[in-house]
Amino acid sequence: MSHLEKVDPRIHALVQQEAERQEGGLELIASENFVSLAVLEAMGSGLTNKYAEGYPGRRYYGGCEVVDKVESLAIERACELFGAEHANVQPHSGAQANMAAFLAVADPGDTIMGMSLTHGGHLTHGASVNASGRLFRPVQYGVDESTGLIDIDQVRELALKERPALIIVGGSAYPRVIDFEAFRAIADDAGSVLIVDMAHFAGLVAGGCYPSPVPHAQIVTSTTHKTLRGPRGGLILCTGDYSKTVDKQVFPGTQGGPLEHVIAAKAVAFHEAMQPDFKQYAARVVKNAQVLGDSLQQRGFTLVSGGTDSHLLLIDLRAQSYTGKEAEEALGRAEIHINKNTIPGETRSPFITSGIRIGTSGLTTRGMGEAEMKTIGEMISDVLSDMSNAVVTRVTQRVQELTEAFPLYRDSAAPISSQALAD
Ligand SMILES: *Cc1c(COP(=O)(O)O)cnc(C)c1O
Repeated sequence: MSHLEKVDPRIHALVQQEAERQEGGLELIASENFVSLAVLEAMGSGLTNKYAEGYPGRRYYGGCEVVDKVESLAIERACELFGAEHANVQPHSGAQANMAAFLAVADPGDTIMGMSLTHGGHLTHGASVNASGRLFRPVQYGVDESTGLIDIDQVRELALKERPALIIVGGSAYPRVIDFEAFRAIADDAGSVLIVDMAHFAGLVAGGCYPSPVPHAQIVTSTTHKTLRGPRGGLILCTGDYSKTVDKQVFPGTQGGPLEHVIAAKAVAFHEAMQPDFKQYAARVVKNAQVLGDSLQQRGFTLVSGGTDSHLLLIDLRAQSYTGKEAEEALGRAEIHINKNTIPGETRSPFITSGIRIGTSGLTTRGMGEAEMKTIGEMISDVLSDMSNAVVTRVTQRVQELTEAFPLYRDSAAPISSQALAD
C-alpha cells in the first residue's frame, strides 16, 4: 500500500482515477503532453521542502548549496538547448513568465501590443479580463481572416502608429510558422522590445523542426509542459543585456520562493530534449498533425490556414451544423479529448465557439504514428457526422483498442498508475 493510500485514501483514489482516465483516452488537447517517469520523480521529490528566494549564489536563506546546483544546471541546460545567453527557470507558469517579461520592459499604463485571443493569441497578451489588459494599455493585431495567416502589414501599421513598449507574438491556436525576423524589424522601427511567447511550440524549436525565435527576440517566454514535455511551469530566455531586469521582475517583482522540485524536473526535461530521440519525436509530432489534418480535410473539414506547420490544427466548423462546444462534448463521450476554440472572425461566445483545436504532442509521446492518425481522423469524422449513442459506443471501442496498443505508463513501474491498473 502506498503512503498516499494509507494517509489519504480519497485523494489516492482520485489520483488513480485520473491516471486511468489518461491511460484510457485519446488526448488531443494541443496544450497537453505526458512527462517521463524521470520528470515525475523529480517533481515528487523532497526538494519541495526547501525555501530558496533569490538566485543561485545569492539567496535569502541558508542551506541552498544543493538546490543552487540544481537550479544552475537547469539554467545551463536551458541556455544550451535553445542557444540563449540567459535563462530564468523560476516562473511558476507561462502566465507568470509573461507578466515578469512585460514588467521588465514596460511600466503600468504603457502600451503593449499582442495578437487578439480570438485570432489565436493568448489571454496574457493583453486580453481585457487578464492583468495584462488591465495594468497596461493593450492594442491588438490579428490574422487575415481569408488566409488565417498573421497580417504582417497590419502589424507594421499598428506598431508604427502606437509605438508600443513591447510587441508580443506567439499564440495558443496559430498552426503556422511565424516570421520572427519580420517582427523584429517592425519592433526595431517602432522602438519596441520584441517578446516571443513560444509556450506552444518550444518543444518543436528544441527538436529543430520549427524556427527558433531566440536569435530574433530580446526576450522569449515559454511554458515547459506543452510540446517541450516537461513539468507544468514557465521559462524566460533573454539576451545578456536584459538578464538583470528579467530576473528582478520574476523575483522579487512577481513571485516569492521558487519551486525547486519543479526546477529539478525542468532540468530533467531539458536534458531529455537534448537527446537525439527528441528530434525524432518533434518531427513525428508535426508529421502526425499534418497527416491528421489531411485525413480530416479529405472528410470535408476546413482547416484554418489550410493546414499546419506545427503540432496543432484549428478546425473551422462554420460549415457544419454543430458548434465547437457540441463537437467537444460528443468527442468527449467517445474518450477523444479535444477543445472547443474560437476561430478568426468568431461570432459565437468563447463558451460555444465555431471551432475546435486538436494537437498531436500527447499521442506522439504514446508512440502513435501516421497509421493511427488516419484512423483517428476517421473516428473524429464518424462521431461528428453522427453523434448517436450507437456511433459513440462503436468509436469508444476502437479508442480502447488503440490506447491498449499504445500504453502510457501502464507497462512501466509507474507510481502514478501501476497499482490501480494492475488490478
Ligand atoms: C499556455 C500558454 C500560456 C500560459 O501558460 P500557463 O502555464 O497556463 O500559465 C501563455 N502563453 C501562451 C501562448 C500559451 O499557449
